[in-house]
Amino acid sequence: MLKNILVIGGAGYIGSHVVRALSAQGYTPVVLDNLSKGHREAVSHVPFEQGNLQDKPLLTKIFNRYHIDAVMHFAAFIDVGESVKKPEMYFQNNTTHVRYLLEAMAENKIAYFIFSSTAAIFGEPVKEKIDENHPKNPINPYGKSKWMTEKMLEDFDTAYGLKSTALRYFNACGADDSGDIGESHSPETHLIPLVLQAAAGKREYIRIFGTDYPTPDGTCIRDYVHVNDLARAHILALEKMEKDNVSERFNLGSGNGYSVAQIIHEAKKITGVDFMVKNAPRRAGDPAVLVADSSKAERLLGWKPQYDLTRMIQTAWNWEKNRKY
Ligand code: UDP
Repeated sequence: MLKNILVIGGAGYIGSHVVRALSAQGYTPVVLDNLSKGHREAVSHVPFEQGNLQDKPLLTKIFNRYHIDAVMHFAAFIDVGESVKKPEMYFQNNTTHVRYLLEAMAENKIAYFIFSSTAAIFGEPVKEKIDENHPKNPINPYGKSKWMTEKMLEDFDTAYGLKSTALRYFNACGADDSGDIGESHSPETHLIPLVLQAAAGKREYIRIFGTDYPTPDGTCIRDYVHVNDLARAHILALEKMEKDNVSERFNLGSGNGYSVAQIIHEAKKITGVDFMVKNAPRRAGDPAVLVADSSKAERLLGWKPQYDLTRMIQTAWNWEKNRKY
């Protein structure tokens, strides 16, 4: 059985929730994180190594020391707007650095990899719900950097038998019910935490980026999915990959689309705060609508999200009011 799992970027938002889920399921997660974005406090209860994922000698040392059976990768840059302004950062970290990691895995005969991919690989949807076969035409460097890595994974399977599962997250949100871990980016760019910071009085207002999109209320529609639902999908994917020994790709979302305006409305209801909202121009790189068809994950992994929008915002609100980091 796969037991010792190297979680690269495990001190970050999604990584830290996956680390918890792995521990709860009897796995031994080992975290490698350079703490450029992550938080040491988020993973205080598991083995931790500070370092860079492109550091092959360090990786080899970690693989051997902890008898690593599989690797999960969360150590990516994720800000769409920033990727448009600084594409080199995104191709370097999200593509080139993963190449070094895969090389080290192949050399050390570690055959299982779970890769955090994204809905941004698809670009503007050509149908209402995006399934795995939807055309890949990313419209920003972030999406391109992830798609290039997905293509690279196919070739590492062919050449070295390195099996991979790419999980394309739609909009991850929410926090662990315990309140111990949650989302903490600096600077924060994501909608739900920004909205809740406005509700908490930590920001004067929230801006809506674009009110002239071809959607019913003119604001962008996204598919929000709770971070613990995503965490569960990683474990199901790991088990499936070991059992079948094949590489797979899954789109992970709730299948429900909510507009920016709807999120703000819901957040006002949950928090009871009527915070200030300002209309602003579109943000570069944003498709109008991104909603997942996750029926493949349901069929092959038995995965179905359990948190609805109210609980997603509620857990994020609990975290925002009482952050640990
Ligand atoms: N958004 C917004 N105001 C903000 C932050 C985000 O209107 O202050 C919009 C953004 O343009 C997008 C949606 O909210 O349409 C979700 O953005 P987020 O950055 O949370 O996730 P992304 O979809 O980029 O992964």
